[in-house]
Formats: sequence, C-alpha cells, structure tokens
Amino acid sequence: MKIRVLGSGGSIPTPRPFCQCPICTQARKEQGRYVRKGQSMYLPEIHALFDMPESIVQLLNEQCIWDVDHIFFSHFHPDHTLGARAIEQRMAERYQPLEPVAVHLPESGLQIGINYYASLLDFYHDEGFCTLDQAPDISIGQYCISRIPLNNGFADGFLITDGTHRVFYCPCHVGDLSFTCDVLHGCDLMILGSGGIRQSWEGETSFYDHVLPVIRQYAPKQTVITHLEEFEQYSYDDYCQLEQTLAEYRLRFAYDGMEIIL
Ligand SMILES: [Zn+2]
Ligand SMILES: [Zn+2]
Repeated sequence: MKIRVLGSGGSIPTPRPFCQCPICTQARKEQGRYVRKGQSMYLPEIHALFDMPESIVQLLNEQCIWDVDHIFFSHFHPDHTLGARAIEQRMAERYQPLEPVAVHLPESGLQIGINYYASLLDFYHDEGFCTLDQAPDISIGQYCISRIPLNNGFADGFLITDGTHRVFYCPCHVGDLSFTCDVLHGCDLMILGSGGIRQSWEGETSFYDHVLPVIRQYAPKQTVITHLEEFEQYSYDDYCQLEQTLAEYRLRFAYDGMEIIL
C-alpha cells in the first residue's frame, strides 16, 4: 500500500499569515519540511483524497497529483473542508469533461453554506461535478475503506485495507476515539492527529493524555503523527528531537509530501 501525506499542518498552517514568530520566519526562509499546509492525505493506487483544507489546490499542484476519483471527508470542520471548491475547479468550463468525482461524506452529512444558499456540495452534485454518498464502507478495487465513527458524533477515522495491510487514519479528534474498537488492534500503520502537545484544553485532544495512550492500547506496527499546529512552536528539527525522546513508541512526525510504502 502506498500513502502520501499531502499536508501535515493543522487548523493553523506554518507559516501562519501575518505572523513573524521564529517558527514562521524559519519556514518562509527554509521552505521544504519547515512549511506545513493543511491536513490531507492521498492514496495514489486508488486516486483517493482525504479531506480538503484551504491549501489543497496548492498541495495537489506542488505534489503533481493528477487524478482524484474519490474524496473522503472526515468531518465538517473548516480546516478539513474549505478547499472543496477544488471539486468545481476540476470540472467547470473544461473542454474535455471528466467523470464526476465520488465524494464520500460522514453519516452526519456535510453542509457548506455560502450566503444562505444550500450546501455547496449539493450544488456541485446538481452541476454534475460529483456524486455524494454517506456510506459507512466503500470498496475500490482491492481496497476497502470503512468509517470508524468517533464518540463526538460528527467526526470519523478510516480503517483502510488493501487485502494485505491494515491502516487506520484519524486526522483529527483522536481524543474521541473509543478504546474498545477490536478491528484497530495491531494495524500495520496508524496515522493520527497530534492534538495539543504543549498544552491541551478541556474537551480537546491531548497528545500525551489521548494519542500516546491510543498507541499503547492498539499497538500499531508503526505510527505517524500529523495535523501539526503552528501554535505548538515546534520546528521540523524539534519534531525530529521529540521522535528520539519518544523512541519507545516508534512514531514519526509527518511532513508535507511524506510517502509511506507498506
Ligand atoms: Zn508563527
Ligand atoms: Zn482538524
């Protein structure tokens, strides 16, 4: 199985607009792994994209992603959905029409409203840009992608299998993941949103109080931590250092464009 982390940032990208802190200044100067655009992932073997942050158009262009046949939305929060106009940009006024992209929504649905119009995605559906479904499981070739609903009632993780490997992708709200989900034991890989590392807030995911216990509970063969926020004030080098400090967890911190081959 091949996996590409497109963007490894969280709700606040690095560099953050209007910010001249040392982390953002370094990112503007060094570029590369010091820059973190919005949280998103791509499965190249089945052309499946997971979530559409505001920066998705740049990420797709920069990383030469030419085909997207499926889009899975994990939940409605804007850092995962406000790049949805790329669905329109893919199709509108095109000389050679493409097949509509299959958009897979959480069971709770997804309404992106603009100026009192109905959902943007419903409009794209009516225009023939996409199909919409809220199915719990989707099969694509050898792959099966199953939603794992989180306890907050609106966000999902995804169990991804290709007949050989099992991957659990939970980009956000890991603190709401159940500890009694048998199918998650011993995955080949977990890709988990970091939650707050330096500090966390009531009701929010904490890296130390939620994410590390999830790794201990489900014992994946390897773990990648993503959704890394500018406000943590960690540079790429600081995350490399933290990997050493937490060596017993065998985890890695993601960066934009990270490729994982299982
Ligand atoms: Zn900053
Ligand atoms: Zn998020």
